[in-house]
Amino acid sequence: MSEIETIKCLIIGSGPAGYTAAIYAARAEMAPVLYQGMQPGGQLTTTNEVENFPGYADGVTGPEMMIQLEAQAKRFDTDVRFGFITKVDFSGDIHKCWADDGKEIHAETVIISTGASAKYLGLESEQKYLKLGGGVSACAVCDGFFYRGQETVIVGAGDSACEEAHYLSKLCTKVTMLVRRDEFRASKIMAERVKGTENIEILFNTETEEVLGDGQVVSGVRVNNNKTGDTTEIPCTGFFVAIGHKPNTDIFSDYLNLDETGYIKYEQPGTSKTNVPGVFVAGDAADKTYRQAITAAGTGCMGALDAERYLAAKGH
Ligand code: NDP
Repeated sequence: MSEIETIKCLIIGSGPAGYTAAIYAARAEMAPVLYQGMQPGGQLTTTNEVENFPGYADGVTGPEMMIQLEAQAKRFDTDVRFGFITKVDFSGDIHKCWADDGKEIHAETVIISTGASAKYLGLESEQKYLKLGGGVSACAVCDGFFYRGQETVIVGAGDSACEEAHYLSKLCTKVTMLVRRDEFRASKIMAERVKGTENIEILFNTETEEVLGDGQVVSGVRVNNNKTGDTTEIPCTGFFVAIGHKPNTDIFSDYLNLDETGYIKYEQPGTSKTNVPGVFVAGDAADKTYRQAITAAGTGCMGALDAERYLAAKGH
């Protein structure tokens, strides 16, 4: 039989949303327990330098920032645990969650900060340079600045790809956009904006075969035209992938209202409340628009404050 632990506040996930929720909940004496999840530190641990988080005038690396956030959460006695939640039951007043360490947790409040995962093409060369931090990224707003004055390539044809291509076009000398079909998926206005930008070249019917480089950094990409069969090489120092994100919300789908792509819906806009009282959401698990560390941290704060008020209203 699993060990049952009854707590006031469970935080699921350890990106900026989860750790910020933990700092606020711990300082409000809610004795939060935080499970770090499959990727401790979240998506930021795959970024190099973070230059747009206020307060770090000289920038900070993603992993270093997450170490700092974890230390700050622990300073106020958050119980940070390595492991993840495998199953939940949100049908009652007490929210039951099962962890991979064998614990059954009965939590009065739950703050979900499980984030989202960027989708990648899955090519061996793409993953190699991603892991090396050598020029592959899934976030133009985070990493585009490092490629200013250089040539970049971006894959994708949705609103994200168009938005990110446009963002890159302001920094880079040239942006080549690889679209696998002969049309965009993006809304007309976004596609038109990209088409109307002088330094963005759009290659339709084009798929990536390999990300090229010297073993340390990216120097180009080999692409294939799926209509003609022609193969060409495009020089670039940055290779951006913008083919969508998958929110990490599968285990909640029986209880929480999700949108058609799996993002958790806010029950009440302007709050962190879900459709289940006592269950709150923060960060990218509910955000397909902003997806920034600072917005995740902001909603993490909201999650903890809403959880605190929920407990106070119950007389706890
Ligand atoms: P989408 O799912 O809308 O688009 C993904 C794109 O990636 C598609 O064009 C798809 O091609 C392409 N793609 C998928 N897999 C591959 C692959 N293996 N190789 C090459 N291309 C691939 O994701 P987005 O992130 O763009 O958008 C998600 C949601 O967020 C949408 O609802 C969007 O409207 C919204 N959004 C809104 C914004 C705004 O309004 N400002 C900004 C950003 C997002 P194909 O078309 O061939 O399937």
